[in-house]
Amino acid sequence: MDKLTMDKIVNVCKQYGFIFQGSEIYGGLANTWDYGPLGSRLKNNIKDAWRKRFIQENENSYEVDADILMHPTVWKASGHVDSFSDPLIDCKHCKTRHRADKLVEEYDKSINGDSFTEKELVKFIKDNKVPCPKCGKSDFTDIRQFGLMFETHRGVIKDSKDGLVYLRPETAQGEFVNFWNVQRTMRAKVPFGIGQIGKAFRNEITPGNFTFRTIEFEQMEHQLFCKEGTDTKFYKFYKEYAMNFLKDLGLNTDKLRYKDHEKLAHYAKEACDIEYLFPMGWGELWGTHNRTDYDLSRHQEYSGKSMEYTDPDDNSKYIPYVVESSVGCDRMVLAVLCDSYDEEILENGDVREIMRFNPAIAPYKATILPLVKKYHKELAQELKEKLSKSFMCSYDETGSIGKRYRRSDAIGTPFCITIDNDTLDNNTVTIRDRDTMEQVTIKVDEIEDYINNKIKF
Ligand code: ATP
Repeated sequence: MDKLTMDKIVNVCKQYGFIFQGSEIYGGLANTWDYGPLGSRLKNNIKDAWRKRFIQENENSYEVDADILMHPTVWKASGHVDSFSDPLIDCKHCKTRHRADKLVEEYDKSINGDSFTEKELVKFIKDNKVPCPKCGKSDFTDIRQFGLMFETHRGVIKDSKDGLVYLRPETAQGEFVNFWNVQRTMRAKVPFGIGQIGKAFRNEITPGNFTFRTIEFEQMEHQLFCKEGTDTKFYKFYKEYAMNFLKDLGLNTDKLRYKDHEKLAHYAKEACDIEYLFPMGWGELWGTHNRTDYDLSRHQEYSGKSMEYTDPDDNSKYIPYVVESSVGCDRMVLAVLCDSYDEEILENGDVREIMRFNPAIAPYKATILPLVKKYHKELAQELKEKLSKSFMCSYDETGSIGKRYRRSDAIGTPFCITIDNDTLDNNTVTIRDRDTMEQVTIKVDEIEDYINNKIKF
């Protein structure tokens, strides 16, 4: 297959119903995307896999579902009101806007723009005459800090300062502010974790690269509350736990790497990203951070509520440390789509498009195909109805069997079940595997177990 481009993925997603441009019939709203029937199944299956690993199988972990709108003081306590901004720089020549850290990174791929101060960024851009990606000139304004939080107003008096609220820029604060609620109601003992999946909003300067950077996105975050001294052990554990999750989802290990942060945020003791090799280059997919006791200490300071935990074993009192594991759900879906897309030239010269999804996250698990509509339709529909009680199935009766296989492969359905005369006579079906194209014959009442065994995560 030729090198995969982002345009190709965007087109495949649109063609097969994974992701559409937002508000398309109105000409679209830039950098907004709507998940179609297949994309939303894929996304939900990825969320379920995350939930299974980070909540269900993870000892002492609990899920919450906090509101997007939170008390504005939360964002003062978290530091977002004062410092959640990106370094904005304008090209004086063509008037395009850029993130200064990303300009520098683009210019020299070995640099981590995050590790530069504002002054260092300006100096680097001047010294190296870094060109504008749009017009090629190197004539920039000074850097200004651009606040990333979306503001909105509640209540009837618009523009009143009292009604100012923010759309959350991360889900993490929903876990921190519910620390005591979860601890008390679950009778949880430190170390324990709180996770959630939910929407976040950032007024990004340079959204783009399809769903990689958008202004509205979903995060899957897990915060582990632990005692100081055990934090580094848990930090290492969650770094590996995240990587193993990605490998188990089936992502190509050559396209995954760790990248330690050189410059740490003021509250962080250790931080590391997992990057994926997207079609436009390496990009952050997942962050693991040792956030120390910063979050709960700040909420103690701003709310006036004690965040001190008393250890029931030795009566020691302390504010727990937090190890955060944070991944963007949309970036994960994008990584999975890029990683799974494949083209194969068949013996007859046809191109077979395949989404090689791990069966556990494939939107549909099986396509039911009557060999001859006239004779096999009724049984095929009965079977679809029966199997749909266990997993998502689709039904396809139009076109040659070969064409139907191709359609099923292109949307990543791992199994095709064909109903033919043998089904009528012997109660057997053939099941074709998407990747190997091999077929097995099994009894109708064995299908459910056969597929259920193959779609476990
Ligand atoms: P970046 O450096 O790419 O702006 P970040 O370091 O600000 O990301 P975090 O605040 O650590 O990101 O957010 C955790 C995760 O949320 C990221 O690893 C990424 O997967 C996802 N994410 C962050 N910003 C966006 C966005 N604008 N669009 C889509 N996903 C995002």
